Amino acid sequence: MHQVTSVEMEYDVLKQNNDIAHENYDMLKKHNITSVDFMGSIGSGKTTMIIKLAERLRIKGKKVCTIAGDVTGSDDFARMKASGLEAVNCNTGKECHLTASMIHKRLDAIDLDKIDVLFIENVGNLVCPADFPLGTDYRVVVISTTEGDDMVRKHPNIFINSDIAILNKIDIADAVDVDPEVILDDYNRITNNNKLIIKTSMKKDIGIDKVLKAINLE
Ligand code: MG
Ligand code: ZN
Repeated sequence: MHQVTSVEMEYDVLKQNNDIAHENYDMLKKHNITSVDFMGSIGSGKTTMIIKLAERLRIKGKKVCTIAGDVTGSDDFARMKASGLEAVNCNTGKECHLTASMIHKRLDAIDLDKIDVLFIENVGNLVCPADFPLGTDYRVVVISTTEGDDMVRKHPNIFINSDIAILNKIDIADAVDVDPEVILDDYNRITNNNKLIIKTSMKKDIGIDKVLKAINLE
């Protein structure tokens, strides 16, 4: 968790992050890039989703680059590269979330004139990524049926602070004894029926087009 020793310090850290997020946003817009921050727990299926979405976009002639955020290691980065994606690894060290400043530095390593879409995979965690916008067009939170039916009730903040939610692994909901309707009801309640939640299965190719439409890349 990020260290917070006082309310004022928390305010400064968040304000500084927001300022850099605005710079990132401006830089990405200047290059006509659609950008998405994928947040969600470890194992919710973020990496596979990014790879699947990128495959669809490649067919449509769009150039996609990804930033793989992880505390340490390069597993997701390696999977993205192996799928043929242009990818940049971003290890946070001790931090359990990406910050706008980390992304700012990684953008230097990407030829922004040559890409149309930037997908960022945040560190697997449903808590602090919510407080650290990166400057993307969309913030998407990915959960899966395998996490149980209480993720929205336990972590309302990340759902309130994102634009779209995705309930992944919908094909195995029965097998893991989860009623997707419970999750949808919780989500609609905490977002006042104002935001979209999409049911997906990457394995069965369910919902991928809906996700692309939601991020304006259909
Ligand atoms: Mg991953
Ligand atoms: Zn954190």
